[in-house]
Amino acid sequence: VAETNKPHVAVLSSPGMGHIIPLLELSKCLVIDHGIHVSFLNITTEASTAQIQLLHSPTLPLGLDVIDIPAVDISALVSDDTPIVARLSVNVEESLKPLKSILIELGKPQALFIDLFCTQAFDVCKELSIPTYTFFTPSTSFLAFCLYLPTLDHEVECEFIDLPEPVQVPGCSPVRTEDLLDQVRNRKIDEYKWFFFHTSRLPMSDGILLNSWEDFEPTSLKAIREQPFYKQIPTPPVFPAGPLIKHDKPELDDECLAWLDKQPLNSVLFVALGSGGTLSAAQLTELAWGLELSQQRFILVARKPTDASASATFFNVGEDINVNYPKAYLPDGFLKRTKEVGLVVPTWAPQVSVLQHPSTGAFLSHCGWNSTLESMTHGVPMIAWPLYAEQRMNATMLVEEVGVAVKPVGIPGKGVVDREEIERVVRLVLEGEEGNVMTRKARELKRQKMEANYKNEAEVESVYNRQSEVKAFDDSRAGVKGL
Ligand code: UDP
Repeated sequence: VAETNKPHVAVLSSPGMGHIIPLLELSKCLVIDHGIHVSFLNITTEASTAQIQLLHSPTLPLGLDVIDIPAVDISALVSDDTPIVARLSVNVEESLKPLKSILIELGKPQALFIDLFCTQAFDVCKELSIPTYTFFTPSTSFLAFCLYLPTLDHEVECEFIDLPEPVQVPGCSPVRTEDLLDQVRNRKIDEYKWFFFHTSRLPMSDGILLNSWEDFEPTSLKAIREQPFYKQIPTPPVFPAGPLIKHDKPELDDECLAWLDKQPLNSVLFVALGSGGTLSAAQLTELAWGLELSQQRFILVARKPTDASASATFFNVGEDINVNYPKAYLPDGFLKRTKEVGLVVPTWAPQVSVLQHPSTGAFLSHCGWNSTLESMTHGVPMIAWPLYAEQRMNATMLVEEVGVAVKPVGIPGKGVVDREEIERVVRLVLEGEEGNVMTRKARELKRQKMEANYKNEAEVESVYNRQSEVKAFDDSRAGVKGL
């Protein structure tokens, strides 16, 4: 029930940490910065351990209530082979059957915020006259692509991947067909139909909030706001509200941070592939060898490999992160040989704190949008290793437009990126001149964002003394090279 006198809104996220984290951050921001009472509707079907822990954390602010939507049995509707968006959408569709009564019981909140995969809520909210806003958790350029998809679908007869030219979303950078997300590579299957269902309903939003900011994606933001895009494509008002990223509260004795404390400045590569990213056994072996050959320092979040799917860990429901033994699937002797320079952790690391740590020099990432924002917010350059969803588009943008990442040859691609290539990019980003340039760009972005936040040069300088940080960076690079 709404706290008296305070505005009351509801927030609804589809499962998956990549959605839940930014929607929870939005909720915290509404509660703490704007004095709004938030009911966070939590889909509990197929919730991962990380989701359960996050949404039942004792550190959530007062005024943010997590309402568990009872779990439903979807086993008859999905199988182990059901692809990710279809599975997510079936889950959401079934879980949201009681949405109307939940919203009524909550006293009809004044607005509902949803993510891209909860668009079934539009109908219920229309019935109840509750304004509904989409918090679009991926990039702005991907929003432009999604808004354009119905036009593309109408105009193109063949599969999009067979188009002779890149897809030209009005006003935006062309999207190469090899970068197109899996969900739009075969228009005949349910995975596409569900994706199309949600994206074509985006214009039903009363507004779209973006987890981005002006300096990071100027071209796509300009395109969405201006002619001819706006005129050609139904587009609700958009608000760049980002970066909304989480702030870890790691254990005081966290293994990763304690280890980082002992390493030189900017010397460590952090390797983590989001909440769902999973490598094949052959690729994990090559990655481990590449790290070892590079002789650079690293933290590797090592998940049990699988050849089944690059996003396999997404649906490891209720997994126990302690029952995961990297030794069993890393090359023989790897842990022993690298113990002076590397730390291997199973399944999960406090990513934001790791990226924030001064010893972290680069991030090998699947380029999920949250990971991207977290890396940029902390001025860390990336090795782009896209795996699924819109990550190939993100990677191309980071490498070609923003200049803060390098992509190993062979990615995106079929087969395995070999150890020599991995060694090359790890060295390049941590000790090469190209790495220096990328780091400076990432730090400049961080600074621009701070300037936009504080709008006061003196305040920015007091939080982030650029000269001293750049000097410390140069000194540490010189030091590391000399090791
Ligand atoms: N994350 C983390 N530790 C890990 C792996 C991931 O804290 O070991 C967090 C990461 O900080 C980010 C989120 O999980 O906030 C992953 O979101 P992203 O959009 O990057 O990828 P997705 O999981 O949606 O593919």
